Amino acid sequence: MKSRKSSNAADAGGAMARLQAVTESPLHPPSRRYRGRFAPSPTGPLHLGSLLTAVASYLDARQAGGDWLLRIENIDPVREASGAESQILHALEQHGLHWDGPLERQWSRMSHYREVAERLRERGLAYRCQCSRSELASLGGQHPATCRHRPPAANLPSALRVDVGDRPIRFIDLIQGPQQFQLARDGGDFVIWRRDDLVSYQLAVLLDDLRQGISRVVRGVDLLDSTPRQIHLAMLLGEPPPDYGHLPVLVNRSGAKLSKQNLAPALDLSRARQNLHAVLTLLRLEPPPALRHEAVRTQLDWATPRWSLAALQGCRSLPMPERLAD
Ligand code: GLU
Repeated sequence: MKSRKSSNAADAGGAMARLQAVTESPLHPPSRRYRGRFAPSPTGPLHLGSLLTAVASYLDARQAGGDWLLRIENIDPVREASGAESQILHALEQHGLHWDGPLERQWSRMSHYREVAERLRERGLAYRCQCSRSELASLGGQHPATCRHRPPAANLPSALRVDVGDRPIRFIDLIQGPQQFQLARDGGDFVIWRRDDLVSYQLAVLLDDLRQGISRVVRGVDLLDSTPRQIHLAMLLGEPPPDYGHLPVLVNRSGAKLSKQNLAPALDLSRARQNLHAVLTLLRLEPPPALRHEAVRTQLDWATPRWSLAALQGCRSLPMPERLAD
């Protein structure tokens, strides 16, 4: 068992070395078809911040002549708000954001996630852990990794944590620039399967990005810390991860990210043209003021060739506009 673990760890180390070599340069050959995605959790209706992410990932895919997929990330029934999925779909359609292919829902893929989590455990790369939140809080949120070698009581529910090793993970973010993370020092081994028997966000999102052949993920900078965890999982599975670009998030007057928790107002769908125009302005495309009276399709067609990730280089937050022009 021990030697099996070390040979698997060596495999993972090999994958890591390969990945580190390739992440210094563009990860995917230009010939690879562009596939992007928008992956909202159905925890509430879209607000201006989530529309900004949807529009940016849409424009990035369309400008490259690629696909833009829609995935509903409904892995947590407790956080799900009733009716949120249909509100999200309707809001996207009202803003002209039509996705390619069938809509996917993560809930239908639970058994696949479970199989992969179990496989990582069998390979000695993940282990059961019963540390409670309060225990971890008393350690400053840093998992001590002691349960790697201390099997927990079999009759109690446990999480599965993945061994993060001790090598740094480096990647070049397309918007935020070069990144380096040391997972062992930044939280340590992380959860891939939850104690309440649900998949973790990190595992589900990575598996779907790989399976759907997503070549580039464009999402909010609030998820930048998750990216090294997802890259680590891709390395353990021996697959190249997508490229990543992390967009600035919209913040309110006190600097907090717009979210359902801080009561970000849902998009007013009777003002889709103005919403879209506001987002194009925030994305620094400098749309002419008169464009806000044009149909959403016309606005998106205007924006597609002008879209540029470079305009947002290094930007992490954008103030929520006080009010949208009529
Ligand atoms: N489902 C996540 C959210 O709604 C986004 C996940 C991702 O884009 O990777 O915040």
